Amino acid sequence: MLRMSMTISSGKTWTNWSGSVQATPAKAVFPRSIEEVVSIVRECLREGRKLRVVGSGHSFTAIAASNDMLVSLDELQGIVSVDPEGQTAAVWAGTKLKLLGELLFEQGLGQQNMGDIDVQSIAGAVSTGTHGTGRELGNLATQVVGLTVVTGTGEVVECTPESHPEWFKAMQISLGVLGVIVQVKLKLRKAYKLEYRSSRMPLASCLQQLPRLATDNRHFEFYWFPYADPCQIKLMNITEKPASERKMWDHISDVWIENTLFGLLSEISRKVPGTSKWVSRLSASQVPVGSKVNYSHRLFATQRLVRFNEMEYNLPAEAMKPVIEEMRAEQKRGRYRVHFPIECRYAKGDDIWLSPAHGRDSAYIAVHMYKGMPHEDYFAAMERIFLRHGGRPHWGKMHSLQAEQLKALYPKWESFAEVREKLDPERIFLTDYMQKLFV
Ligand SMILES: Cc1cc2nc3c(=O)[nH]c(=O)nc-3n(C[C@H](O)[C@H](O)[C@H](O)COP(=O)(O)OP(=O)(O)OC[C@H]3O[C@@H](n4cnc5c(N)ncnc54)[C@H](O)[C@@H]3O)c2cc1C
Repeated sequence: MLRMSMTISSGKTWTNWSGSVQATPAKAVFPRSIEEVVSIVRECLREGRKLRVVGSGHSFTAIAASNDMLVSLDELQGIVSVDPEGQTAAVWAGTKLKLLGELLFEQGLGQQNMGDIDVQSIAGAVSTGTHGTGRELGNLATQVVGLTVVTGTGEVVECTPESHPEWFKAMQISLGVLGVIVQVKLKLRKAYKLEYRSSRMPLASCLQQLPRLATDNRHFEFYWFPYADPCQIKLMNITEKPASERKMWDHISDVWIENTLFGLLSEISRKVPGTSKWVSRLSASQVPVGSKVNYSHRLFATQRLVRFNEMEYNLPAEAMKPVIEEMRAEQKRGRYRVHFPIECRYAKGDDIWLSPAHGRDSAYIAVHMYKGMPHEDYFAAMERIFLRHGGRPHWGKMHSLQAEQLKALYPKWESFAEVREKLDPERIFLTDYMQKLFV
């Protein structure tokens, strides 16, 4: 099993993946059963403690941080039950996506879609609306058909669209403020293979062909580089072709070019920020061209060894092109010294109350900055553009919004607040940071 428990302990400093958040939990616990989670919640109620659950700590803000009680579900991983006919599985909420993919595959099943890494916990990924790309595919929370939750009053609720239609829509993306999710039931599909193709294209041509690329491919995303012309196009489509042998070239491309070489170039950029334009152009010229076939869970995930900070916004799908054009213009005007590519994806709209894709087919645009390089001015300038176009921030990534602004972006905000008051009347899940987001 993939464990990160060793990195979390009572009284010791905990940091998230990028290092942007630090906290010192007074008490860190690793429950092994639902009953233990219930008694942890009751202890918090009795002693007036604040509680946060941490998955893999891959969010860029303090949404998983706690200086009081920190709960990790690393000991609650694996499959609870599978229904091969109905193509559903109930899994423990702490299960890491990589393990989940392999366990489901053993049962002949696979997830409809995933993001670009597989180290998150299923509950953490679902709770922030983690998404992949695909115009016809929703975020991971849309795969959920049932949740077992220990609420802020210490009750265990089995929540489905049938049993608790309102609570379910609130819980699907709830950042751990409605309760501790202990089990997640997923709607899956038969295991399937994808063919992945990476190619280079001038950004202007890519922007012209956006509708076609997005509709002709099950998964389409592109990365464009500041101050550079070529962008990387990534396409994935279902195939019956045999899985490719893992070639030496794949390893060179995945590990050496995308991580080791890019890491070295990033260090150069950090030490001599004036080189960032050059680094961006060089990286754009090295975009890998090639294809491979594998089972979906093995292809979605990539290795991310170079650490960075990130902001990502959801936008109406049709805003992709105009927003990118404004970002290009602003990058030319400002002196942001950024060499990381901008990641652009699509997702289908949904009806989850706090989903950034609520009520609209969506574009997602993500900006990154190498760890240790100043991101504030760059992210603030990009955020202003996103907000002008109706942007909603990704819940797991950096943004500057607080409750008042968020409220204006979500039609079901008040309904969510009512459910939150009911399920967590003592506000045990509202740390100072969460309070800023929700109250
Ligand atoms: C390198 C990298 C790549 C990424 N790629 C993508 C991507 O492709 N697409 C995308 O959309 N996002 C992406 N993300 C963001 C990431 O998927 C989200 O931040 C996700 O929430 C992280 O999962 P986690 O298990 O680390 O959760 P954490 O960051 O630990 O927690 C996230 C939230 O979930 C809550 N939570 C966790 N477990 C539970 C539980 N059992 N019950 C209730 N609440 C819980 C936490 O309290 C917190 O509010 C990426 C992040 C990184 C660092």
